[in-house]
Amino acid sequence: MIAAIVLAALFHLTPAPDIARAADLHGLVNEYAPPGVTVRLANCGVPNAFYDLNGHITVCNELIMVMEHTLGPDSAAQALRFIVLHEIGHAVFAIDDVPFTGNEELAADEYATVMLLEAGESEATLAAADLFAKIGSAVDDPTDPHPSEWRRAMVILSYTEGAIHPGEYPADFEAFYRAASAWNRLLGR
Ligand SMILES: [Zn+2]
Repeated sequence: MIAAIVLAALFHLTPAPDIARAADLHGLVNEYAPPGVTVRLANCGVPNAFYDLNGHITVCNELIMVMEHTLGPDSAAQALRFIVLHEIGHAVFAIDDVPFTGNEELAADEYATVMLLEAGESEATLAAADLFAKIGSAVDDPTDPHPSEWRRAMVILSYTEGAIHPGEYPADFEAFYRAASAWNRLLGR
């Protein structure tokens, strides 16, 4: 707690719980997560968010602070919706036994991107891509199951451009359309 407060005071940041409230994390869990999944804020000592096999999504206050410092409070709340939907994706794969192929982290990104874009929430996907592009690396780390942040940003941006500017970016539209169709079939929507 102390580290998060000091960080917030140092950079004049909006408190993490206020950003979490603006992002309506509980509403997201109620709408998308399997029954019983919960979301909570915690001081972790590192900027991270994760889903554990007990059905809990934890968002570290330190991550929200970094997001607020990087994007400002409004875009941080938008990007946080993406981050939590990514964790909900892991819960959907584990609890509902929804299959995916390829890297699970990219599959969770695809799930979050498609759910948000189908709900008309391109501000959230754009904010997430902006976050990854600003804080991340272009180089994959073989010790980390997550692809590089730039690669993650590229996938999110490609689907978003396809969804919001289909005439301008027909190849991106095709990619988004195929991904959305596949996820909807896998989820039985
Ligand atoms: Zn993940």
